[in-house]
Amino acid sequence: MTEEAREILLKGSNPCRQVKETEDDIVVNLSLRPKKLSEFVGHKEIVDNLKVSLQAATQRKEPLEHLLLSGPPGLGKTSLSHIIAHEMNTKITATSGPAIERAGDLIGILTNLEEGDILFIDEIHRLSKVVEEFLYPAMENFQIDFVIDKGQFARTIKFNLKPFTLVGATTRTGLLAAPLRSRFGIFYALDFYRVEDLAKIVRNSSKVLGMEIDAQAAEEVARRARGTPRIANRLFRRIRDYAQVAKKNGVDLDLAVKSLDELGIDRAGLDELDRKVLRLVLDTFSGGPVGVESIAASLNEETDTIADTVEPYLLKAGYLKRTSRGRLATKLAYEHFGIKYERQEELF
Ligand code: ADP
Repeated sequence: MTEEAREILLKGSNPCRQVKETEDDIVVNLSLRPKKLSEFVGHKEIVDNLKVSLQAATQRKEPLEHLLLSGPPGLGKTSLSHIIAHEMNTKITATSGPAIERAGDLIGILTNLEEGDILFIDEIHRLSKVVEEFLYPAMENFQIDFVIDKGQFARTIKFNLKPFTLVGATTRTGLLAAPLRSRFGIFYALDFYRVEDLAKIVRNSSKVLGMEIDAQAAEEVARRARGTPRIANRLFRRIRDYAQVAKKNGVDLDLAVKSLDELGIDRAGLDELDRKVLRLVLDTFSGGPVGVESIAASLNEETDTIADTVEPYLLKAGYLKRTSRGRLATKLAYEHFGIKYERQEELF
């Protein structure tokens, strides 16, 4: 691989954990986002279920019930919320829990909603208590109460909102307050995708971006994408850069394998941070059990990064196991690094 190609390939360093996207990435991402329900790959049960709810709401000429989407980052929560707006032929206003700092911010957003609009709140588990309490009557009766004046002149004014649908997204349902959770009518938990679905997403992206990829190569990218469409697309974009520099007009298996290896994505699809976490548990903590906070502190990473983006996949793929005393490395984790497995898991 030439130096130039290597540099381009490694641009954006770790494609799985790239926190800040470049402007180019954002534009490309938007073009790859599924716009209609028929373009949303995988999760057939959710799609079928949503179709019925959308159809029923449309027939009744009512907004869809408030809907909560949960699952690790990059699995399609934002895409689904935009798809819902598209299918309902309505407008979507997108914001996030941390962005709504004061109740006033929320009131501003709510009072600007038109009938049937979708309000998408990403990271809804990060709303402050005060803001959350304003949301309850808004969700329940499409009303908000606010207090004007102070002291003896204080009065509560009820303000009627136009009926809307709140779509909340969270990476951690466990952190959502029970009263908020109970105000949603529909819940979908998005799980990691199957390799065949990810391969389809990669093939679709290749058409949109005008860079061919053969079936075997698409499957290789899919196998190494940690079950996550966003990662599959990012890996494909980096491989496309390499193909372009190498003056190839398509991606074959050989090119995909070489590029993915160069990117530090191993044959099992684990990236550098996955391997760091596993080696830490295996070497420093003798295989565990160890808490997520200790893992994060030892690696100088945010606990949220480990808890939201690293751990769920390692648990799902069977490298880590959850126990009451923390995370435990499994036989698979030992085998992945060629370390002899001698412990008896039953003890934990
Ligand atoms: P989340 O909101 O869960 O973090 P996004 O909806 O932003 O995830 O998805 C990230 C990207 O992954 C999207 O822009 C899209 O390109 C792709 N993607 C996610 N889910 C799907 C899907 N089911 N079908 C096709 N592409 C998908």
